[in-house]
Amino acid sequence: MSNLILRIALALALPLSQSALAQSSATPAQAATFVAQAEKELAAFSILSGRANWINSTYITDDTDALAAEFGARGTEMSVRLAKGAAKFDDLKGLSFDLRRKLDFLKQGIVLPAPEKPGAAEELNVIATRLQSQYGKGKGTLEGKPINGSDIEAAMGTVRDPAKLKEMWTSWNDNVGAPMRGDYARLVTIANEGAKELGYSDVGAMWRSGYDMPADDFAREMDRLWTQVKPLYDQLHCYVRARLHEHYGARVQPATGPIRADLLGNMWAQEWGNIYELVAPKGVGDVGYNLTALLEAKSYDPIKMVKTGEGFYTSLGLPALPASFWERSQFTKPRDREVICHASAWDIDNKEDLRIKMCIKVNADDFVVIHHELGHNYYQRAYNQQPYLFLNGAHDGFHEAIGDFIALSITPEYLVQIGLLDAAKVPSADKDIGLLLRQAMDKVAFLPFGLLMDKWRWGVFSGETKPDKYQTEWNALRLRYQGIVPPVERPATAFDPGAKYHIPGNTPYARYFLASILQFQFYKAAAEQVEWKGPLHRCSFYGNKAVGDRLNKMLTMGASRTWPDALEAFTGSRTMDGSAMIAYFQPLMKWLEEQNKDKKCGW
Ligand SMILES: [Zn+2]
Repeated sequence: MSNLILRIALALALPLSQSALAQSSATPAQAATFVAQAEKELAAFSILSGRANWINSTYITDDTDALAAEFGARGTEMSVRLAKGAAKFDDLKGLSFDLRRKLDFLKQGIVLPAPEKPGAAEELNVIATRLQSQYGKGKGTLEGKPINGSDIEAAMGTVRDPAKLKEMWTSWNDNVGAPMRGDYARLVTIANEGAKELGYSDVGAMWRSGYDMPADDFAREMDRLWTQVKPLYDQLHCYVRARLHEHYGARVQPATGPIRADLLGNMWAQEWGNIYELVAPKGVGDVGYNLTALLEAKSYDPIKMVKTGEGFYTSLGLPALPASFWERSQFTKPRDREVICHASAWDIDNKEDLRIKMCIKVNADDFVVIHHELGHNYYQRAYNQQPYLFLNGAHDGFHEAIGDFIALSITPEYLVQIGLLDAAKVPSADKDIGLLLRQAMDKVAFLPFGLLMDKWRWGVFSGETKPDKYQTEWNALRLRYQGIVPPVERPATAFDPGAKYHIPGNTPYARYFLASILQFQFYKAAAEQVEWKGPLHRCSFYGNKAVGDRLNKMLTMGASRTWPDALEAFTGSRTMDGSAMIAYFQPLMKWLEEQNKDKKCGW
């Protein structure tokens, strides 16, 4: 996660005080003055509010909650006012590229815009807050006893009894999702009116407009990328279904058709890594080493883990992190106070005051997360010379992809290079299937879910999916793209989308799909730059300054150019491309096709 998106993308709902009608008398000079003033105001505010949020996240008390809420409300008010002000220049011709781009960013700084009519903003705010808090307080049941969100999420990954899985899945969706349905429909109506006042046809179109192409083209672009990677998902689905059928028997998981959604180790079936041990092939399923054990054996502590992560970036020629990073970050969970442990990366002063906030445990997962979070920090610092409104990723998928791209480089060879793994213990090529299958269970399995979250919302916001079809359309998309079915019949009054945080939380989701695709494209580009000859997934470009130089070219651009310009700076291509992911998983694809050759795949 990166915190910076929140800086301008606050969910909003205060009254809009000015008319959205374009002023025929507006001049480019007025637009320039407006933007300059907005950047000044936003920059000053972001530092103060960043500090308040940092303190709140690392020391939760009633007082810091109140301060964070106060800054949230002020930020909301400011974003709405500036979006509305920017919309006034919509029809103004003759603006420079930078000026037009900054005005667009100001308009898109709003996730949920409220219309001007009296009371609408308050109502939208009340509904959005209620949805979020319902989600936060939501509980399912396990063996009839209430179980909270984070515990039920964890239990879905470890419980293997299909009756208990079904109970948790059904109770969570019934208790958390269903009560939100009416509120959500109302929220859609109000926010759509707000989007229209800003010049968008609906909220979905507004969300899709942040990708340097017409909103409809972006929807097609998502479909195109999905088509590229779908054959790999189909093979994975086919293989996993067969193993679940073997494990649970036909009454729980039939040999053909869709997979039962609660058997995949995750409440939303969005990542399947938790059931790796159920599907790991005998012999080749063992990846040959255990990173957690290696970290323990070499007496790594949290700071040493972060230093190691930093070492990857400095090996590429990027500068060391500032002393303040080491003084101000939260690396471990404090003993004596409440904090938010969810990992995030921060840039408090928009220049050098970089920090991560984690509760690091010495294990493989957190080692990967550290590399990921530092990707955000290095991106933030690389673009810190840009004007305020360009202090961002090339599009919202880039920011998540950078860290993941670097984290992909934690290959066995890299672990040898940093002295964690003995060169003699590097797993032989026959272990690659295990390594790749374990990764695919998370990264490939995620793709259709990453796609359908916003497909569903785009339909809802455009009015194509009416409230009485919310559930059936959700089921249809889950079946069509993921090839999964609920463990029980879902009534039309259910509202399963509400049981996934980003729907009541109103966080757009396309970015996660794009990041999944881009990280492999970046990785393949790096491999080509170092003229890597081996299998793609074994490439390490650790220590390669030429790769670092090119990467830095992309990072320093921030959001100042279109994303194809940024992509080209590092990869040489102006097009997002799912074929890199296919190339990365090629050995697994071959192996899966072999395993599935006598099966009827698909659903
Ligand atoms: Zn992140």
